[in-house]
Amino acid sequence: MNSLNKPVSYHIWTVGCQMNKADSGKVESVFSKWGLQPVSDPGSADVIVLNSCVVRKKAENRVLSKLGDLRALKKKNPGVAILLTGCLVDSQVGELRHQFPHVDLFFGPGRISDLMDWSRTNGLFGGTGSSGEAPSESSTSAYVNVIEGCDNFCSYCIVPYRRGREKSRPKEDILCEVTELARRGVREITLLGQNIDSYGHDLPQTTDLADLLREVNGADGLDRIRFLTSHPKDMKLKLINAISCLDKVCEHINLPVQSGSDEILRSMRRGYSASQYLELIGLIRKSISGVALSTDVIVGYPGETEKQFLETFNLLEQVRFDTVHVAAYSHRPGTWAAVNLKDEVPLEVKKERLNRIEDFQKNVSLEINRKLEGEVLQVLVERKAGEKWMGRTRTDKLVFFQSATGNFSGNIVSVKINRAGPWSLTGELAEEDCIAAA
Ligand code: SAM
Ligand code: SF4
Repeated sequence: MNSLNKPVSYHIWTVGCQMNKADSGKVESVFSKWGLQPVSDPGSADVIVLNSCVVRKKAENRVLSKLGDLRALKKKNPGVAILLTGCLVDSQVGELRHQFPHVDLFFGPGRISDLMDWSRTNGLFGGTGSSGEAPSESSTSAYVNVIEGCDNFCSYCIVPYRRGREKSRPKEDILCEVTELARRGVREITLLGQNIDSYGHDLPQTTDLADLLREVNGADGLDRIRFLTSHPKDMKLKLINAISCLDKVCEHINLPVQSGSDEILRSMRRGYSASQYLELIGLIRKSISGVALSTDVIVGYPGETEKQFLETFNLLEQVRFDTVHVAAYSHRPGTWAAVNLKDEVPLEVKKERLNRIEDFQKNVSLEINRKLEGEVLQVLVERKAGEKWMGRTRTDKLVFFQSATGNFSGNIVSVKINRAGPWSLTGELAEEDCIAAA
């Protein structure tokens, strides 16, 4: 730390899902209130926060390797404060302390109050702020947590063990945060929850995600609303109708299927069959015009046969998702699958199945996107990426365009698409926006 022993700079390293990114945003907001400045080089920071993910072994290994690097940094500069948060922090903090003695504070996912208690105890800051901080910087898009934790206990998943049981935030808190974000210029918000469709079931008043979307849709200044992640067993007609009716709610749904084999789905404890999933997709497509769909798939689940893998492949062929996130099964200690099943699909078979899905999906995404060539799409511009501007459509397509004049951040512009790739679209400003920029 600096000579006054008061930190002035911080560096945050985030790995993992949008929930982790949202949690890091809250830490940033608290630090900025305390007057700390962000730095990109951890070597020159007074406080380093590592926001960890352990959903797959690969992510956990990256976190462990980073912790190793920080051990050396702490040796060189004992004044630096190292804080570890995210899903690596479980209830066994004593064990973690023993393993990583160079870490000054362990705080569970989103436990900002623990960070504030620590800073007060160590006389570092006045400790203002609350655990429900909205990001302090104005940006085009922001994440808002609406439900923490997960009650589902899918057989392979470590999340409920690390993030705890479901806990919905009161609607009034959420609306307050959304209103404040919109006041600061945020135009798109993404409501977050591991199982967002079960929002509200634990609140005293009768409410659900559809009701929440309806109220958020009324926030002045906001243009777009997204939400993540839906669970197929909890997505009901009321919610589908709300997405279809509410003008700010974007036509994009992430609906993780995980497998197309009923035996595997049963073992995963997902609570639906492949045909029920397909029925739901049919209902969504019938109800929400122009909807874009994405999904998550796990290959190489314990005992997955070639036939079962092909059932997944067939489901992907039938649905033709806009995007598929595919992961190789990773044994997570403590989960039902790790305790009861053998991780018996060889790594090379997992990789081969993963590559087959990725190759197939690349072509599907390209074919879907090619249909957009020549169309004029409404793009909410996020930022400049090199020479080009970058933004997204309501259906979550990434769009790049070039313009020599104008600052488009935070604006919705019309872009004529002239080239489509599997992961993004490229175009030019449609005439009226060219004139406005000139
Ligand atoms: N709640 C969401 C759902 O119901 O699918 C997803 C949340 S989970 C943290 C994000 C993704 O990580 C999952 O969709 C799954 O594909 C993947 N995942 C979780 N555990 C995994 C494991 N043990 N091995 C491989 N992938 C895993
Ligand atoms: Fe994990 Fe299943 Fe909960 Fe998603 S729904 S977070 S996969 S336990």
